Amino acid sequence: MVNITLPDGSVKSFEGPISGFDVAMSISENLARATYAMKINDEQADLHTTITTDSTVELITNRSPESLEIMRHTVAAQVLAKAIKNLYPAAKLVIGPTIDRGFYYDIDMEEKISTEDFEKIEAEMKKIAKEKTKIRIEKVSKEKAIEVFEARNEDHKVEILKNADAEQELFNLYYQGEGDDAFVDLCRGPHLPDLGKVGVFKLTAVSGAYLGGDSQNKQLQRIYGTAFHDKKEMKAYLTMMEEAEKRDHRKIAKAMDLFHFEPEFAPGAVFWHDKGYKMYRALIEYMRTRQEENGYEEISTPAVMNRVLWETSGHWQKYGEHNYSGQTEDGKTFCIKPMNCPGGILVFGQGIKSYKDLPLRIAEFGKVHRYEASGALSGLMRVREFTQDDAHIYCTPEQMEKECIDTLKLVLDIYKEFGFGDVKIYLSTRPEERIGSDDIWDLCEKSLATALENNGYEFEYQEGEGAFYGPKLEFTLTDAIGREWQCGTIQVDMFLPERFDVSYIGEDGEKHRPVMLHRALFGSIERFMGILIEHFAGNFPLWLAPTQIALTGIVDKQNDAVLELEKRLKLEGFRVIADTRNEKVNYKIREHSHSKIPVIGVLGDKEIAEGKITVRRLGSNDQTTMDLEDFIFSLKEEVFNKSLPPFKS
Ligand code: ZN
Repeated sequence: MVNITLPDGSVKSFEGPISGFDVAMSISENLARATYAMKINDEQADLHTTITTDSTVELITNRSPESLEIMRHTVAAQVLAKAIKNLYPAAKLVIGPTIDRGFYYDIDMEEKISTEDFEKIEAEMKKIAKEKTKIRIEKVSKEKAIEVFEARNEDHKVEILKNADAEQELFNLYYQGEGDDAFVDLCRGPHLPDLGKVGVFKLTAVSGAYLGGDSQNKQLQRIYGTAFHDKKEMKAYLTMMEEAEKRDHRKIAKAMDLFHFEPEFAPGAVFWHDKGYKMYRALIEYMRTRQEENGYEEISTPAVMNRVLWETSGHWQKYGEHNYSGQTEDGKTFCIKPMNCPGGILVFGQGIKSYKDLPLRIAEFGKVHRYEASGALSGLMRVREFTQDDAHIYCTPEQMEKECIDTLKLVLDIYKEFGFGDVKIYLSTRPEERIGSDDIWDLCEKSLATALENNGYEFEYQEGEGAFYGPKLEFTLTDAIGREWQCGTIQVDMFLPERFDVSYIGEDGEKHRPVMLHRALFGSIERFMGILIEHFAGNFPLWLAPTQIALTGIVDKQNDAVLELEKRLKLEGFRVIADTRNEKVNYKIREHSHSKIPVIGVLGDKEIAEGKITVRRLGSNDQTTMDLEDFIFSLKEEVFNKSLPPFKS
């Protein structure tokens, strides 16, 4: 007897060993047809894997979130790889994993593949998928697997096998067809049971990639692609990608003169130009105000500190290779801070703290440095030097729930002000590599979950994704074109206060350990700026726009009035420019619209005589003539209210 427990808790008994397909068939034939793979006791497995002992089984159908990844993996490893071998028999296969929104396959071959070859390769892929071949799995020993790939001259597969974990006894070979010339790939799986379940696919790019990611090694060709269940999903994706391309923050930043990078001198570090830095400062000032309203103090701690501190916090052991460090003449190792926490906790440790001082919310706009691999760097989205809107909240265990919820409310409110209404909340639990006892982890994870539930917030678990010192809440927001970005986080930490031996005097007159909450709401100011640039496509809310108003006359003789108004608006606190160049007014308007200035004000003789101004807003072709005083008042109100842009550009 094999008893199978299904996700709804029901148990099905079978006379002997069965496959996932049999389990699905025992429910319905339609279900079996729509099933891609399964999870046996939470581990993904191929649909036709034999289950011999009592297990919990979850079927992965075409509706399951995991199904897309499994399908993409099959498209890469069974459809693309086979198409390449059919078209270029001398090609050697390397690896073909899935990535965010798609897959790639690394191929070692002499002939250069370009995007012009995609049509031909896609046609071959379609031919292969159309055959709906069943995928056959053989589980073989390392020796046997090496033999199979040696016979096919697949040197890289042989190498992968030779380097595989010595403990691993069996390797999965996925075949299409029978006989010596059947296509075969080495893979952990799972794969679709047959190619009839392949949806629509498209090759998207080709680039060079070094074997093993090491630039000393041979260069391979990496072919990227993606796949979806149907044409509609594919179309939505392609439209989104086109829009994303237009919104690329590096392109917009160049057009708006916001910042640049110097890959040779300071890879992954931003050189802010005047306009970009104005926005950067506006973001910090905004967060500072929100923090002050919410009872935060603000501190600043050193950028370079003794390595001992990072050893105490555990960051050195955990992130050692990502730290920038160096020795001083006195033989000590100093480290450029990768995190603000240890510096912050030293400030808390000053003087005696009483329960009456808690909760104590201490913020720091701390610039941190982490060495990221050069291949991982990507504009503002992934940098080596960035500023966190960091804060640490020290509280009693009883205060923790309220502090978490208050912080959560604050973060949701802030995101809403930027127009991010759809925010997902994730609770990330203990990772494998961690410090502290399981009792404390249980307590922290449970209290976070309870706090969310008690306050009616929906959330999902991310198992094993917590920080090494505690569980965390993570917030993912959806931008204007439907992309998701993980930004803020709240982390519960009961270990650092102990490691740094900080305490407060309780009502009982005894010393107690505070709970420490780490939180960042924008996350990294740099990255948040990148997200905002793409979200607004450069058409920023007035309060954030680097230049808010451009002024011009119609002809030169109005320049004095234009300059006078510029002075007045500067005094009123606006970021304004007067364009007194001897150019046609329409040319100037076009140019300022192109550089995304939200408000363009035009002064002609009539306007000057009547105390009025003609106004054009970015994204609209309408012009409105209004009283100058009303104009100033309405713009002030717009800035004060942090209003979102009135028109889309
Ligand atoms: Zn921290």
